[in-house]
Amino acid sequence: MLTTSERIAFVLIALASLLLTAHGVSRIVRAIARGQGRPTWGLFFRRVIPVSLDILLQRPIFRTRPLVSALHAGVFFAFVFYGLVNILDLAEGFTGFSTLHRGGIAALYNLIADLLSVAALVGMVGLLVRRFGLRPFRFNERVFLLPSVRFGISRDSAIVGGFILLHVGSRWVGQAVRIAESERADWSQPTASLVAALFHGWSEAALTTASHVTWWLALGLILAFLPYFPYSKHIHLFMAPLNLILREERPLGQLEPPTSSNGALGAERLEQLRWYQLLDGYACIMCNRCQDVCPAHGTGRALSPAALEINKRYYLNRNLGAFAGGATSPPLLEIATTKEAVWSCTTCAACVRICPVGNRPMLDLIDIRRALVNQGDPLDPNLQAALESLARYGNSFGKPARQRARWTKELPFPIKDARKEPVEYLWFVGDFASFDPRMQENTKIVAQLFHAAELDFGILYEDERNTGNDVRRVGEEGLFEMLVEQNLAALEKAQFRAIVTTDPHSYNALRNEYPAYGFQVPVYHYTELLADLLERGRLRVQQPLTAAVTYHDPCYLGRYNRITAAPRRILHALGLELREMPRHGENTYCCGAGGGRIWMDSGGQERPSEQRIREAVALGEDLRYFVVACPKDMAMYSDAVKTTGYEAQLTVIDVARLVAMAVGINGLERESISVTTEAP
Ligand code: SF4
Ligand code: SF4
Repeated sequence: MLTTSERIAFVLIALASLLLTAHGVSRIVRAIARGQGRPTWGLFFRRVIPVSLDILLQRPIFRTRPLVSALHAGVFFAFVFYGLVNILDLAEGFTGFSTLHRGGIAALYNLIADLLSVAALVGMVGLLVRRFGLRPFRFNERVFLLPSVRFGISRDSAIVGGFILLHVGSRWVGQAVRIAESERADWSQPTASLVAALFHGWSEAALTTASHVTWWLALGLILAFLPYFPYSKHIHLFMAPLNLILREERPLGQLEPPTSSNGALGAERLEQLRWYQLLDGYACIMCNRCQDVCPAHGTGRALSPAALEINKRYYLNRNLGAFAGGATSPPLLEIATTKEAVWSCTTCAACVRICPVGNRPMLDLIDIRRALVNQGDPLDPNLQAALESLARYGNSFGKPARQRARWTKELPFPIKDARKEPVEYLWFVGDFASFDPRMQENTKIVAQLFHAAELDFGILYEDERNTGNDVRRVGEEGLFEMLVEQNLAALEKAQFRAIVTTDPHSYNALRNEYPAYGFQVPVYHYTELLADLLERGRLRVQQPLTAAVTYHDPCYLGRYNRITAAPRRILHALGLELREMPRHGENTYCCGAGGGRIWMDSGGQERPSEQRIREAVALGEDLRYFVVACPKDMAMYSDAVKTTGYEAQLTVIDVARLVAMAVGINGLERESISVTTEAP
C-alpha cells in the first residue's frame, strides 16, 4: 500500500523515534535505580501471571468509580488489542496484505478491532469531558505543587487523550476509507462500514490519498508520540504493572527500617527514598483517588498524597539527565511536599489501599519524618512532650510505670500477674486503656467480661510499655526500638499461649512489627475474643438490645489487619440493628488519631472525627450509638460528638460496654433496659 519513499521515510523516522525513546527510558531506569535497595526479581516470575490477570480484568481500577472505570476499561482493552492491530496495519502498509472482507479468524479479528475502536473513542471522550469539563481533580489551595505540575497535569492529559483519539480515530476512519474503496460493506466491521457511507462518491484518487493519510496518522503518530511517552503519564502502562508485580511482600502494618545513607536516616532527598518509591511517581496515573480518601486533605490540610507522587515525577522529568547522572536532588520538602503536609498524615493507609497502581505515598511521608526527627528538627511541642514521656516512663501520659495497673484495684477480683504465673491469654492493655481516666471504666468492663467468661488471663502490670506503633510512624526509630526491647524483656518473663489487646495500634505492632524482632505468638483483638465467647455461650445475652447503631472500623484494625467481622458478629449477637456508614470495613475513614496525630495540636482545624460523626448522624435521627473498638477512638469521638453538637442525639460507646449491658455485668443491665425502652 505504501509507496517506496513512504516506506523509507517510515523506517528512518521509526529508527530515530526508537533511539530517542530508548534514551528517555534508560534515563528513567537509571533514575529509579538511584533509589535505595534493589527489587527482588524472584517476585517477578511468581507474580507476573496473577498480576497480569488482575490488570487484564481491570480489578484494581474497578475498586471504586464504576462509571469512570468502565470508560477506562474501554480504552485499556482497545490499547491491549491495538498491539496486534498496529502490527497487522504495519504489515498492510509494507506488503499490501489486508484482512478486509476475509472470513474465519480474520473476520473475528476485524469485529473485535472495530468494536474496541469505538469503545476506546467513547471511553476517551468520556474521560476527557470529565477531566476538562467537570474538573474533578482539585487540590486544596494549601497543597504544594511544583509550578510545572499546575499546568503540566492538564497538558499531559490533553496530549495523551489527543493521541489516543487521533491514533484510534484515524485507524477507524482509515478502515472506513478502505471499505469505501472496496465498494461494499464489510459485515465484520459494522461501525467502520457505517462510516464508509461518508466516502461514497469520492474519486479513486481521493480515497487513495485518504487511505495513506489515515495510515500515517494512525501509525506515524505512534512514532511521533514514542519519544514523549516516557515523560508522559502514559508510562504507567509499563510502570504500574511493574509496581504491582515487584511490591515487597510485607504486611501493610510492618514498616521497613529506615534507609541510611552517609549516616543520615530516612529520606531528606529523592535519592534517599527506596527504588520503589521513585517508581511510584512513574506508575501514578494522576487519578487523585488517594486524595479523595485522605482524611488530612478532606479536612483542608496541606497534604495530598497524589500531589506528592505527581511532584516527584515532574521534578524527575525536568531534571532527569542530571539526576540519573548522580546529581544531588534538592530536599523533598522543596520539591515534593511541605513540612505541614508531612506532619498532617495520620498513617491511616487509605491512600495505599485505594491506589490502583500499588503506590504507597504514606511511606514517603514516614521516611521524611524519620529524616526530620533524625536531624533534630523541632517537633510540635505536644508531640515532643509525648515522646519525652514515652522515653522516660514508657507511656505518653507522663505517669510512673507503677500507676499503669492502678485501675485493677477497683475490681472485685484480682487479675493475674502473667510474670508470676502462667496464663492462657496475656492481655496487653495499652496506654490509653490503662491511664486515660475516660477509658479506665471501659477497661474494667473488659476485665469483668473476661472474668465472667472464666477466661484465663493476666497482665504485665508495671512492665508493660507502649508498643511503639505510633512512635515508629512519627519517625522516632530509636525510641521505637527501645520500647520494643523493654516490652520483649517483659514478655520473656511471662508464660502465655496468646496475646489479646484492647488497642488496635498495639495489636498492629505486636502482630506485624514485633515478629521482625523474633516475637511470634498469636495476637487477638478483644472483639475477636468477645465474639467467640458470645458464640460459644461463655457469655450469655440476658437482655437483647434493640437500638440502631453504627460501627466505626479503626484503621489499624479494619484496614491494616482486616478485622471487620468480629465486632459486627458481636453487635449481631446482642440483637442490635447495625447501620453501616458509607465508608466502612477496609474502606473506613480515619478518626485522625493515628501516626502520632493524637499527640499533636489540631490547630483549630476541623478534625476527621468530626466529619465522621456527621457521616453517622446522616444515617437517621434514631441512630442511638456510635460504636467503637479502640480506646483512642473513644477519646476522639467523645470529643467530636461534643464539638459537633450531637452529644444529646448520639452516644459514643465501646463495644465491650454494649456486651456488658446485654449480658448483665456490674449493674450495666439497667442501662440495657433503658436502651430498649427509652427514646434517645
Ligand atoms: S496515610 Fe492517610 S492521612 Fe496519610 S497520606 Fe495516606 S490517606 Fe492521607
Ligand atoms: S498515587 Fe495512586 S491513587 Fe494517587 S493519584 Fe497516583 S495513581 Fe491515583
